[in-house]
Amino acid sequence: MPRVTLAGRRPAQVLALLAAAAALLAGAAPAVAHLPSGRTGYRTLADYEADLARLAAEAPRSVRAFALPRRTLLGREVRGVEIARDVHAADGRPVLAVVALHHAREWPSGELTMEWAIDLVRRLKRGDPRITRLLGAARVVVVPVVNPDGFHVSRSVGGALEHKRKNCRVADGQIPTATQCEDPANRDLGVDLNRNFGATWGGPGAGLDPADETYRGPAPFSEPETANVRDLLTGRQVTVLLTNHTYGDALLRPPSAFASPPPPDAALLERLGERIARPAGLRNLTAAEEGEGTGGTDDWAYWSLGSLAYTPEIGPDLGGLALAFHPEFRTVVDRYPGVRRAFTVALAAAADPGRHAVVAGRAAPGATIELSRTSTTATWPVLDTDGIEGAPVAFPEVVRTTMRAPASGRFAVHANPSTPPAAQGHPGRAPSGPLPDPVAEGMTALAPGAAMRRRFTIRPGDDAALGDVRVTWAQPRRQPGFAVYRLGDEGDDARERVAVGMRLTATRQHATLHGLRWNAPLPPGRYEIVATAGERANAAQATVTFRGPQPPAAAAPEAWTLRCLVGGAVAGERQVRVARGERADVGALC
Ligand SMILES: [Zn+2]
Repeated sequence: MPRVTLAGRRPAQVLALLAAAAALLAGAAPAVAHLPSGRTGYRTLADYEADLARLAAEAPRSVRAFALPRRTLLGREVRGVEIARDVHAADGRPVLAVVALHHAREWPSGELTMEWAIDLVRRLKRGDPRITRLLGAARVVVVPVVNPDGFHVSRSVGGALEHKRKNCRVADGQIPTATQCEDPANRDLGVDLNRNFGATWGGPGAGLDPADETYRGPAPFSEPETANVRDLLTGRQVTVLLTNHTYGDALLRPPSAFASPPPPDAALLERLGERIARPAGLRNLTAAEEGEGTGGTDDWAYWSLGSLAYTPEIGPDLGGLALAFHPEFRTVVDRYPGVRRAFTVALAAAADPGRHAVVAGRAAPGATIELSRTSTTATWPVLDTDGIEGAPVAFPEVVRTTMRAPASGRFAVHANPSTPPAAQGHPGRAPSGPLPDPVAEGMTALAPGAAMRRRFTIRPGDDAALGDVRVTWAQPRRQPGFAVYRLGDEGDDARERVAVGMRLTATRQHATLHGLRWNAPLPPGRYEIVATAGERANAAQATVTFRGPQPPAAAAPEAWTLRCLVGGAVAGERQVRVARGERADVGALC
């Protein structure tokens, strides 16, 4: 093969060649993909705020800037934009909400959200036919930074705080100062905003300890940042929600725990999930399958409101390395084209009346048409520090949206179903056999690296739909862990890992064993809990309890209250029951 020689070329040409070669080696090939903004690095909080304001200023007819009603713990505004053709019209279009950065360190989630907002506005401006049609049929609401306090600390204060996950709460119920939040000693404090929502608050996969990564907070919606998202989603008819996170390349959907009843819309959620996940290269699975975690945004939006709600976890899993939360910016650029197509599928689904409900009728032109529902929903039976379920917490749920009756008098409100999934009931069954024997063991001392092994048996004919495994450690700071295995037959060394312990409090870890499908009995066989001490000595104790199948729950149908308001007075009112995919026409309302 001929040697490449630079002989005979002028120095300037040589330098140019060398620069081109260096650029190729650095991956800066000439035809690279670009983000809609052209950015090549992560935004700061100020960058997000400037970009949101610029978008609204550039396209005042199709972009409306807004701030959510509550300030954060440190007094910041949480800002967003609403994007639609003729965005200021008070009509009844359905809404796709796209939010990000609940978790402070997950920088790509905010970037992809902001870039799509910019892209939508550009495409609308240049008359892209599909986006123009979709933004005529639906609205898009974008809040790229739900947790600006935490994001600012992660992105701009940096250092040890670069990997802060939660909000700035330091002590339950008390307002922290910026100095406290920027103190590296407080990095691990705060409430996990994606464990603080109602509906499944208090369940498995959420911590009870303020220093825990997944601390659920003292009550559902205890934090202004989560209450803000509740306000955002209950003041609009959000038919599809994307709550963006980083990382794992997965599209997660309800349910978030194995003991959760199956969502009434499970088949639709899976089917639509597949269509959203595919172009972005995401795995399509339930949140429970990826790792139980209750109190999340998607769970609440689905169970309490009926939104088709998903958690995209976008970005590569770099072998569990923390830098996966903000990998080199190139990853954002590379992922964007697929993400754009995925989000557009979600927008088309939000606009599709076959996937939500419509309440239609006739009203005096100019009258205010109000659709509202006031109900009480319950959280998960709240787990205590031992991992034992207690009573659920009831919390009020108020949804209220308005539109103006057009000159024709014919109105249509695109809405979620009147009965939210949490009130739609679920199938169930009676027990077909006894529960397996529970396991309770005393503390066992463990040398460094040693493992405590406890076996238990599920006999043929036993009927436990769930097993709750708890391990208590004497020295929790020594990073111990446990797993549960199903063993092969006697004399067979095969073993299959069926559960991994998640931290519940500083001293306790918890795992749920479950049948293959909801309410299916745990497979009979021999099981083993293996609890392994870290590099230093420890002591551990294991308990296993079992629960039988859940009985069926009857539906408790709810209705929308539809009102016509003229000059502030009620000029007409109906109770309207309407399911997903249905259109209810009330005739003359006022
Ligand atoms: Zn996250």
